[in-house]
Amino acid sequence: MPHVITQSCCNDGSCVFACPVNCIHPTPDEPGFATAEMLHIDPVACVDCGACVSACPVGAIAPDNRLDVKQLPFVEINASFYPERPADVKLPPTSKLAPVLPAAEVRVRRQPLTVAIVGSGPAAMYAADELLTQHGVRVNVFEKLPTPYGLVRAGVAPDHQNTKRVTRLFERVSRHRHFRFYLNVEIGKHLSHADLLAHHHAVLYAVGAPDDRRLDIDGMGLPGTATATELVAWINGHPDFADLPVDLSHERVVIVGNGNVALDVARVLTADPNDLARTDIADGALEVLRGSAVREVVIVARRGPAHSAFTLPELIGLVSTRDVVLDADDRQLVQRDLAGVSDGLTRAKLEILSKLGDAAGPGPRIRLAYRLTPERVVGQQRATGVEFSLTGTAERRGLEAGLVLTSIGYRGKPIRDLPFDEAAAVVPNEGGRVVPGTYVAGWIKRGPTGFIGTNKSCSLQTVQALVADFNAGKLADPVGKPAALARLVRARQPDAVDSAGWRAIDAVEIARGAALGRPRNKFTDVADMLAAAASAPGTSLPRRLRDLLASAGHRRLDLLHADLTHRLPH
Ligand code: NAP
Repeated sequence: MPHVITQSCCNDGSCVFACPVNCIHPTPDEPGFATAEMLHIDPVACVDCGACVSACPVGAIAPDNRLDVKQLPFVEINASFYPERPADVKLPPTSKLAPVLPAAEVRVRRQPLTVAIVGSGPAAMYAADELLTQHGVRVNVFEKLPTPYGLVRAGVAPDHQNTKRVTRLFERVSRHRHFRFYLNVEIGKHLSHADLLAHHHAVLYAVGAPDDRRLDIDGMGLPGTATATELVAWINGHPDFADLPVDLSHERVVIVGNGNVALDVARVLTADPNDLARTDIADGALEVLRGSAVREVVIVARRGPAHSAFTLPELIGLVSTRDVVLDADDRQLVQRDLAGVSDGLTRAKLEILSKLGDAAGPGPRIRLAYRLTPERVVGQQRATGVEFSLTGTAERRGLEAGLVLTSIGYRGKPIRDLPFDEAAAVVPNEGGRVVPGTYVAGWIKRGPTGFIGTNKSCSLQTVQALVADFNAGKLADPVGKPAALARLVRARQPDAVDSAGWRAIDAVEIARGAALGRPRNKFTDVADMLAAAASAPGTSLPRRLRDLLASAGHRRLDLLHADLTHRLPH
């Protein structure tokens, strides 16, 4: 049985390298890799060994006889990437294995290479993974929240639990004996770039793109308007967004922009709350969704169907689980685009769109609307709808809505002491190098596009630049010893959370979830996270000691405590 890559493919390429017959493409060195919406298994060349299944970090691969109905379209999608041919005809060059990307090789052993990584999302963890393949390298990961893994925790939709399985890989990385978490520590607030450089050979920023692109039209900012990314953070229990005022007492929500984030939000807003209750969705969001009056979510694009920003796997996931509809005008646009389309991927999307029905019945449903440019949000005290122009004309169309969300992309924000390209909202870099000693990876390096796994090759490129600089003697040895760093962090942020603290938070969340039949029940309040972290076996004694010392107000003893903390296993 040939294997099939299904929805939630993360693109990280692990399956490509695991495959003994090179039947998964595009590989990271092939031209289409950076833009591919997913990877594809060649059904003719697949030898059914299952090596890719174990290598896939998100559980997206299965034999074709084990797919559920929703996954069946992926049989055709995998196969259509390859030319049609008889079963015994292999494609050249299937005899050649996928070229393994060269690991960055540390050749100088004067002092162990020590790297600070800022951020703990996929780009950060893939970079740590790559660095730690080298003997003796030490990695300290700094994260401003008490919980790691960035958008995997706070961005991936709760109904995509498989995608979150990539955290198992990250957990393995974080258990390396030369890996250390400094969570709840903000660079730029508790420690500066110079502090990090004093204690490491290099600093690698993998801080993502934490802001939203803002839609500059009248009425945005009224109550009843928000960005889809804020809503995603609220749904996922990000502590900064747990109290976002989300009013779902109206029948219609309009989302401007039709990328995968818009689809994520529309799916959650039209989900059965009882299904969501089996996920790790934040309690507060679930409660609001249980009381929701929303019957229709309209996802509005300014261009036509052929330019839909969502990807094919996500569209298939949407139409197989939701009532997705089109109006008559938009159906015509789909037919027009279908007549002129040349590439297979767009054709596949348009064919799915061409089979969608009309809006009928009470909903909940998702309506896809095209060629509408947002002109202004309508409403006095709060949003009551959006006025659009028919793209390229002066003709106006109105859509009533109680909630207006913009979903027009993420945006990177400047990092103190680093250059910033305002237009592209990235830190200017060459292959990840800002200057020798300072590096970037992920969305702050290349902009907010791609999937979780796209960061693997992105981070590898950055690590190669960093290691080349180290080998060339361009990186100054750190002046501070590891113990001095631990002391500095404790002095500046007494509530720093280490690996043991994170594991305690993780264990409590999972236990709370298990009691409710859920994968985890998230803390959404930093104080609660810190209380759970304080229960960690390795930290309870020094924490009690620290509190005692703090109450005695003795500074030198406090330094002793920092030393003790550093020596304890984590
Ligand atoms: P995106 O894919 O870049 O989509 C942005 C959307 O906003 C497009 O429809 C764009 O239309 C529209 N837009 C931009 N400026 C606009 C304006 N001024 N007025 C009206 N519309 C405007 O962004 P995203 O959805 O935030 O996704 C970010 C990245 O994360 C993507 O690479 C996505 O695939 C990835 N992601 C993946 C998943 C998944 O795999 N499940 C989930 C979430 C996100 P135009 O095309 O006309 O500019």
